[in-house]
Amino acid sequence: MENETLIMLPGPVQLPERVRFAMARQAINHRSPEFGAAFTDIVRVLSSAFGTSQAPMIISGSGTAAMEAAIANTGRNKRIANLINGKFGERMVSISKRYGAEVTQIASEWGAPLNLASLEAELEAGCDIVTMIHNETSAGILNPAEVVGKLCRKYDALFILDGITSIGGDTVKADEWGVDIMVTGSQKCLAAPSGLAMISVSDRAWERMTENPPYYLDLPAYKKSAHKNPPETPYTPAVPLVLALRESCLIIEEEGLENRVQRHHRMGEAVRAAVNAWGLSLFSQPDALHSYSNTVTAACLPEGVTDKALRGFVKKMGIQIAGGQDHAKDVIFRIGHMGAVGAPEILGTLSVTELALRRAGYMPQESGVMAAAEQLG
Ligand SMILES: *Cc1c(COP(=O)(O)O)cnc(C)c1O
Repeated sequence: MENETLIMLPGPVQLPERVRFAMARQAINHRSPEFGAAFTDIVRVLSSAFGTSQAPMIISGSGTAAMEAAIANTGRNKRIANLINGKFGERMVSISKRYGAEVTQIASEWGAPLNLASLEAELEAGCDIVTMIHNETSAGILNPAEVVGKLCRKYDALFILDGITSIGGDTVKADEWGVDIMVTGSQKCLAAPSGLAMISVSDRAWERMTENPPYYLDLPAYKKSAHKNPPETPYTPAVPLVLALRESCLIIEEEGLENRVQRHHRMGEAVRAAVNAWGLSLFSQPDALHSYSNTVTAACLPEGVTDKALRGFVKKMGIQIAGGQDHAKDVIFRIGHMGAVGAPEILGTLSVTELALRRAGYMPQESGVMAAAEQLG
C-alpha cells in the first residue's frame, strides 16, 4: 500500500499524483526560462485565487514565513491591532511583538465572533495595522474579511489577512475587500506539498514598507526578482516544491476556481450535516457576519469520549483527523476538507468517525454518514 493513511487534516493534505510526480524530476536552474515558466503559471492562478491584480510572491518556508514577512516588512515599531479568535490569531500577536510593535489584542474566545466595536475604537485611536485570520483553522470559523477591510480603509490602516486556509478553498477578493497584504501556504487548500508560502502586497502597502527590512524575508527584494525576465526569487527557492505547486495551480485552473470553491462549500455542508445528525455541537459560534469554515470543521467531543479513543480508532482504520490545539485539546476534533477531497474521502472519514464514536460509548442520534450522503447526492 502506497499510503498508510488518508490524511484529512487541515494541512497537510493529500497530494494528487501529478503534483507528486512533478517533484521527481532532475534538478533545474532556478534562473532559467524553464523555472520562469513555472513561476508565471503560479502567479497567474494565484493572483486570481487571491483576488488581486498584484502578482503574489513565493517564499521558501511554511505559511508562518509569509505571516512573519508581512509584519517584518511593515509593522516594525508600528501600532498593530491583532484580531483573535483562535490559535493563528494568537500567532500574529507573537510575531508582531518580535518586531517591536505596540500591540493591542482584540481577543474573543476561540471560535466566537470577533469584536469589531473594539476594532473600530482602536482604529479611531490611530492604529497603523490590523491583522486578521480569514479562516481560523483552530476553531473552524470564517471571519468577515470584507467588513474589516472596509473599516481599515476608512481609517487608512493597513490590513494584513492570513488566507492560509481560505485561498483556493473559499471566496477571496483581496483587492475588492481592501486587503493590503494577503498570505497563504502550499499545504492547505492548494493541495501542494508543505514548504512554500505566497504573499501579495497592495500598492498602499508597498509605499509603507519599513526602512530596515529583514534580510531573507525582504519583500521589495522578492518583488524586484519577480519582475525580472524570466521571473525568479532573490535566493535559491525550493525548486521541487515550486514545480509541484505549479502542477497544483494547473489543477485548480482546470477545475475552475468557482467550481473549486463550490466543491469546498458542499464538503463543508456535508461534514456539518454529519456532526448535527450525530447530535454533537459545532465548536465555532458564527453570527450574521461570521460563518462556519468551508475547509475545516471543528466539532465538540461528546462527554465521556476522549480524543485518544476517537482519533486512535480513526487512525487505526487508516484515516487521520486532527484534534484540538492548546486548550481545545481533548475538547474538540477537527476534520479537514480542503484540497483534493470529494465524496469518497468525506464519506469514508465520516463512516470511520461514526464507528469510533460508537466504540467509545457514544450513541449518535442519527447516522451522520447518511446525512452527509444526502448533502452530496
Ligand atoms: C496552517 C496555518 C498557518 C501556519 O502555517 P505553517 O505552514 O504551519 O507555518 C497559519 N495560519 C493558518 C490559518 C493556518 O491554518
